[in-house]
Amino acid sequence: MGSGRLGASIGGRLLGIVALLGSLAVTAADARNPFFNDLGPAMLGGALLAFFLRDRVARILVVAATVLWGVSGFSPRGPVDAKVVVLGVDGATFDVIDRLGLPNFKALADEGTRATLTSMEPMFSPLLWTTIASGRPPAEHGVRGFHVASTDCDVARFWDIAEDRGHRVGLYKWLVDYPPREVAGFWVPSWLAPGPETWPAELSYVKELELSKRLRRKQVAARHGTVDLVWGLVGAGVRLTTLVRAVAWSVEERVLHPKPARANLVMQTMRGRIDRDVFIAQLHARDPDLATFTYYATDGLAHLYWDQPEIVEAAYWQADAILGDIRAQLSPDARLIVVSDHGFKAMDGTGLAGQFAPLTERLRARLTAEVAAADVTKVGHKLTVGLEDPAQQAPAVAWLAALRDASGEPFYKVEDLGGGTIGLTLADEQITVERLAGDTVGGEAVTGYVKLTDAYTGTHEARGIFYAVGAGVPAGATIAPRDLVDIAPTVLAALGIPASLEMLGSAAVFPEVTPRVADWDGVLLNLAWLGGEDGQNEEALKALGYIEE
Ligand SMILES: [Zn+2]
Repeated sequence: MGSGRLGASIGGRLLGIVALLGSLAVTAADARNPFFNDLGPAMLGGALLAFFLRDRVARILVVAATVLWGVSGFSPRGPVDAKVVVLGVDGATFDVIDRLGLPNFKALADEGTRATLTSMEPMFSPLLWTTIASGRPPAEHGVRGFHVASTDCDVARFWDIAEDRGHRVGLYKWLVDYPPREVAGFWVPSWLAPGPETWPAELSYVKELELSKRLRRKQVAARHGTVDLVWGLVGAGVRLTTLVRAVAWSVEERVLHPKPARANLVMQTMRGRIDRDVFIAQLHARDPDLATFTYYATDGLAHLYWDQPEIVEAAYWQADAILGDIRAQLSPDARLIVVSDHGFKAMDGTGLAGQFAPLTERLRARLTAEVAAADVTKVGHKLTVGLEDPAQQAPAVAWLAALRDASGEPFYKVEDLGGGTIGLTLADEQITVERLAGDTVGGEAVTGYVKLTDAYTGTHEARGIFYAVGAGVPAGATIAPRDLVDIAPTVLAALGIPASLEMLGSAAVFPEVTPRVADWDGVLLNLAWLGGEDGQNEEALKALGYIEE
């Protein structure tokens, strides 16, 4: 044996050992999470390598690694038992879905029914998702601003009702769902959650990852090291390709120093991957009858990058892929309902006219000091005031209408939406450097109430999306526009449960179970909530532009 040959065989054996150790690690992860190895076809690379290796020991090592890899990559799994799945796509509009010809959305339209889902003011996602889930308006469900927890929702939402009727429920990131409850399925709260609690507790790794910056800042004792965190995420359902993507991103970040838009896109789609991985693993592991999953990058990226279509489109492609993945888990009879809380459009005004943002904090502080406690949130050029006490509506409207600029004109156009919510736009939207230097609002500098910015190029609009597919749904149909309050009766009808007389809408697509019950809110009595932190994830609200940095 020549020295070259010897070197080659040592190299080959080292390669074989590395391959075997790698395969063993992947097999161990796959034993914990049967969806982990989603790179099964990579075993072809091992087979090819084994073919070219001349050293017998090296070849045996690589063949063993290849077989292990192939076994862990093979995960036979039939459809899950879920009867009804609700997929929320925040801010999704047919304008983009149809323009891109997204294949899984197209298949939904071909095999099921679709409609425009008309949103309502104030167009602020926590309120809208609560209206969708309860079939009741903000004045009744009580979710008016963002200082809200699940315990503040005064009415039953469709999962509360389904659970009361004996169904297993799996909830994944529906807005205003923190703190969670112990349920027969699973419950992972959305971005508004200030703490990491989930049900079951082992899913909290997902939230800890999202909250890691905040947790550190709040000096909460570092709970987990990186290895523990990754192992926990794998246990929750995160797949190999997602980890590979995360490693690739950390290299890209260090070497190429990508622009913020690229970083934002990668972070949001990474979250989408993790969420999809965990949701699908839990669909199989916890077997809910009713499950929900909500995707947010279609909203978050659209606010900032509506003028950069390739970024917004990447989010829509991911939403489409997730839709395809979820559908692939369901039996043909399962009913899938897809909704958005509102649509999306370019920010009003072109060029300079669109380049301002109303500010929230000074107005909130002044309104709270002079009239009544309130939240103020910004979506595009609009502000939404949510009063803690809806009885303060009239004085708050009067006070806001009386705020004048330096020339004595009203500063805001005030829209009384009733039930503790008020919509505000600037009466004069021509914001210039000169005006910012000299104008006032109720005697204070205007700079506390509006600023120039070109950071936001997209904003909410009323035309959202609705699709349904599954047993009993007409194929290829488009029906007349529906309202947000129709969704709760629709989901209940899909489950074979009557709606309540208090719900404003009616079921689309599925026949309603009659007669309706008088009231479902009794199911909220004696619910046991898992303890959690008070407050909201203010960092997430700031990142989304709802309140100021
Ligand atoms: Zn939004």
